Amino acid sequence: MMNTTHAAMGVTLTAPLVALAPELAPVAALAAFVGGVFPDLDLLSGQHRRTLHFPVYYGTAGLVAGVAALFSPSAATVGVAFFLLSAAVHCVADAAGGGLELRPWEATDDRGVYVHPASRWVRPRRWIRYDGAPEDLVLAGVFSVPGLFLFDGTIRTLTVVGLGVSVVYVAVRKRLPGVETKYLR
Ligand SMILES: [Zn+2]
Repeated sequence: MMNTTHAAMGVTLTAPLVALAPELAPVAALAAFVGGVFPDLDLLSGQHRRTLHFPVYYGTAGLVAGVAALFSPSAATVGVAFFLLSAAVHCVADAAGGGLELRPWEATDDRGVYVHPASRWVRPRRWIRYDGAPEDLVLAGVFSVPGLFLFDGTIRTLTVVGLGVSVVYVAVRKRLPGVETKYLR
């Protein structure tokens, strides 16, 4: 799944706050956006979908932080909770996508996401066949609806930028392995 899809999913998680705690909704959405982006920073260094992907640990910490935020709601507690919950959803959702192969549409790799407490990879389900697939763009579009219509300011701007990046990424996705092989290896 595209990083932008994960970010939009994170913002969607915070949509109920617009009604329940409107003063905390923007900071929650921003934290969730960043939490959705964050795990994929392991593309830059380390083992992708392992070094910064912690489905169980983010999930557990997110639930604890969520309970703390319920008892003591503030920008800090709500922000931490939604950062962690969004990162957890990101890691779980990665298992619904493709593997780690250079051309994930060829479906030759069986690593979806690494589960640290179990010391093993969960296999990719390929419900979204690969990151940047047309169905991934549909998903990014659907999950962008709250960011576009429930929020304004920074969140709406980030959502618009995310959608723009998604469209370009999907358009060039199948050409990227060729570019990578030619210039980066
Ligand atoms: Zn990821």
